[in-house]
Amino acid sequence: MDHFLYKNGTLHAEDVALTEIAAQVGTPFYVYSTATLTRHYRLFTEALSPLPHLVCFAIKSLSNVAVLKTLGNLGAGMDVVSGGEYLRAKAAGVPGDRIVFSGVGKTREEMRLALTGGIRQFNVESEPEMRALSEIATSLGVTAPIAVRVNPDVDAKTHEKIATGKKENKFGIPIARASQVYAEAARLPGLQVVGIDVHIGSQLTELEPFEQAYLKIADLTRRLRSEGHTITRLDLGGGLGIPYTRSNEAPPLPTDYGALIKRTVGDLGCEVEIEPGRLISGNAGLLVASVIYVKNGEGRDFLILDAAMNDLVRPSMYGAHHDIVPVMEPPVAAPTQEFDIVGPVCETGDTFAKGRDLPLVAEGDLVAFRSAGAYGAVMASEYNTRPLIPEVLVNGDHFAVIRARPSFDEILKRDTIPSWL
Ligand SMILES: *Cc1c(COP(=O)(O)O)cnc(C)c1O
Repeated sequence: MDHFLYKNGTLHAEDVALTEIAAQVGTPFYVYSTATLTRHYRLFTEALSPLPHLVCFAIKSLSNVAVLKTLGNLGAGMDVVSGGEYLRAKAAGVPGDRIVFSGVGKTREEMRLALTGGIRQFNVESEPEMRALSEIATSLGVTAPIAVRVNPDVDAKTHEKIATGKKENKFGIPIARASQVYAEAARLPGLQVVGIDVHIGSQLTELEPFEQAYLKIADLTRRLRSEGHTITRLDLGGGLGIPYTRSNEAPPLPTDYGALIKRTVGDLGCEVEIEPGRLISGNAGLLVASVIYVKNGEGRDFLILDAAMNDLVRPSMYGAHHDIVPVMEPPVAAPTQEFDIVGPVCETGDTFAKGRDLPLVAEGDLVAFRSAGAYGAVMASEYNTRPLIPEVLVNGDHFAVIRARPSFDEILKRDTIPSWL
């Protein structure tokens, strides 16, 4: 459920009409709903209670500091995958002891940054990384709390670009080598082993791969404990999928996911961490665009929008589906027309949808892409020198621009001309 509904014939974000935001900030723009973010975060904390737990929002899905502050104020932890994301979490006021650092290629600079600023744990993904972290921690006179990310070799049954838990993926250490790797971690002077980490992929629409992975983690916990390691935390990753179409998709609910966690690892006496991104942010955001032209082609009609693949890359990158709806509510049983919905970028890949049925729309009309909160704004670029589009946060009946559209002046100033020109 989200808080984007038609009221008096106009699509609203909570109590704000999207037409009002469009008039003030121009299109295209992203808009996020505080109530939806809050609701999704709470679904997870409720699903995991009464287990001791921390829900760490995966910043990479939606990293605006105002969004992070919204979630951080509710008590959320943060899962970061770069020094930049770490700084965003800190800028949002999230204390270091609620930040976990994931990622397969942390640099020494990033380790230093997090060790100095405070960190709950590093999820380390290889032996060379462990050795580097131990070195940096020792040089700073501190110990780095770590969980080792294990690769459980399970098929997440999701898009190949976002499956991470098979042995051929670059992530984690093979679970079969865990004993050896933990033994080395225990010997390294700068590290303190606190737990185990696993993350098998994104947009999972079934619980079964989680179950397989978590059962392996439960076994591993017992084995590592028998080998003398102190395992007090299990980081079970993110990845729970969301419905991208209103009609026929029913991915598992956070409550079922929580029950699965309790069933598989609940009796181990560990604190559980999870790292959901998409399920918290995905359906909490829309991309709103205007129709520039309706172009009648040969055998097909094109809706040319002022948003493009550089603003929302998921359709061209993953073949992803986004529901696209008119902002003005069409009358019941209004006639529809099939459109290819495209952006102005000079690539055929700049196509959001093919043969999509939409109520009749005209130049200047507004349309909204649903489920655009996750992996939308964060993956945007300025390809074709199209400025990054604004982000807007709605809370009840008011809204604020939380990232302004840069001016062309600002964009051009980033390029510098060398002295020989
Ligand atoms: C991407 C990622 C997540 C979040 O995945 P979602 O599908 O957005 O929930 C969590 N943890 C790690 C390590 C990731 O790489």
